[in-house]
Amino acid sequence: MTTPIKDLNLEGKVAVITGGGGVICSVMSKALAMKGVKTAILDLKKENADKVADEIREQYGTKSIGIAANVLDKSSLEAAKKEINEKLGSIDYLINGAGGNAPTATSKVEKIEPSDMEHLEDTFFGLELEGFEKTFDLNFKGTLIPTLVFARDMVKKQRGGIVNISSMNSYRPLTKIPAYSASKAAINNFTQWLAVHFAKTGVRVNAIAPGFLLTNQNRFLLVDEKTGESTARGKKIINGTPMERYGTPEELTGTLVFLLSDWSEFITGIVVPVDGGFSAYSGV
Ligand code: NAD
Repeated sequence: MTTPIKDLNLEGKVAVITGGGGVICSVMSKALAMKGVKTAILDLKKENADKVADEIREQYGTKSIGIAANVLDKSSLEAAKKEINEKLGSIDYLINGAGGNAPTATSKVEKIEPSDMEHLEDTFFGLELEGFEKTFDLNFKGTLIPTLVFARDMVKKQRGGIVNISSMNSYRPLTKIPAYSASKAAINNFTQWLAVHFAKTGVRVNAIAPGFLLTNQNRFLLVDEKTGESTARGKKIINGTPMERYGTPEELTGTLVFLLSDWSEFITGIVVPVDGGFSAYSGV
């Protein structure tokens, strides 16, 4: 006898989306709302979170609340959890979307050339420890702490889904951004660790590794501010992406819905590249 195929089964579930006021996670929140999920949009910037929640209620008619919360401050997340439990119910899904890079952990040059000896401040040697700390904190602890707070509901009811947001940098680091790359590699490792730890609880833990999207955090590296033309780095990315274009946040939503839904009940501990072929391409 075959088991009947279930539906996606997202309707009525409660999702917490950190960084929900941002470019990628506002679209992810809307995609979930479109599938009937109640959404708690968490962001450092309350007005951005509120704007997304307002748009969701207006466009999709599902419950949505905007909450100011700092992913690095456990007490602010605990207060958010209380509000979510009161207004939306017990939590089923967590999307760890808050993340980013610090300019002070970004080297000016890609490689040290013999001619750079007088300008070592433009290389690895000019990177600031404080930039590393900020970037590691935001990407790694900013995933760890919300998981500590929000996954309790899921483990208690023996059901739920966590999706972390990784990056192409996690597989092979991009030049100039060592802190961002290493902290996203840590996300992949933590995704696997937690997937194993939670494997018998019914809570699945996966990640999405987006390819290249043009957003606020990378625009300064990819587009020349004055001319609006692609920088040399922007051109390299397009050349390294077999589809020869940037992705859009909408193009990440299918993977998100799939990973959370009952259609992927045997999937845990994976990192899915959504990258226009970038990770498959040798460049030749
Ligand atoms: P974004 O800057 O538009 O969104 C990030 C959001 O997180 C912002 O709204 C910001 O206010 C919020 N935030 C920052 N610090 C916070 C904190 N301490 N507590 C709570 N919220 C905080 O960036 P995005 O491009 O939408 O990126 C979203 C995620 O996707 C990040 O994890 C990023 O690293 C990842 N990512 C982005 C790309 C890309 O090309 N843009 C590629 C791969 C991965």
